[in-house]
Amino acid sequence: MDKNKRAVVVFSGGQDSTTCLFWALEKFDHVELVTFDYNQRHQQEIEVAKEIAVEQGLKHHILDMSLLNQLAPNALTRDDIEVADGEDGELPNTFVPGRNLLFLSFATILAKQIDAKHIITGVCETDFSGYPDCRDIFIKSLNVTLNLSMDEDFVVHTPLMWLNKAETWEFADQLEAFDYIREKTLTCYNGVRGTGCGECPACHLRQNGLDTYLAKRNGVNN
Ligand SMILES: [Zn+2]
Repeated sequence: MDKNKRAVVVFSGGQDSTTCLFWALEKFDHVELVTFDYNQRHQQEIEVAKEIAVEQGLKHHILDMSLLNQLAPNALTRDDIEVADGEDGELPNTFVPGRNLLFLSFATILAKQIDAKHIITGVCETDFSGYPDCRDIFIKSLNVTLNLSMDEDFVVHTPLMWLNKAETWEFADQLEAFDYIREKTLTCYNGVRGTGCGECPACHLRQNGLDTYLAKRNGVNN
């Protein structure tokens, strides 16, 4: 078993992590998925992740992270808190403190268990939402810490780190997963799959990126 060919993808069933999944499938021989259940606003997120895992024939680990909600209830985990963008340099209220720190740590512990060297996450600094744990410097720092903690040489990959949303759609297209991701994934804060509710900040971001990419693609074809 060559652990250099084995990978774990942090997977939410959304556009970004599904794009990462297809990237990982091109790059590695053996890919497993890990999804964190932290009482997301929409339990449907877990169902979508499960369905995609089954369709792609991949082993899927679902880990209970409800302690995160116990510590820090926020707009992603509570129906009674409305999703809002941050104002004047404040963090948006969708920020869950420590989320990526915990998720990547648990994903790496899982990687150790299944003898995988590579961990893939869809975090991105380009459309910077204000989440400090999506920054490249944080991921690199955590990668070093994880390796020191287990005396290993894990590599945390962030294929979307420097892509904007339009470029992420283009990337999905290059991976021949554009239609699949467009139809199957769930990004919307209101739990509407594919094109989404069209109203929430996640839908606006996704749709703007899609429109930009489609304009470019159609421009090239004409
Ligand atoms: Zn929406």
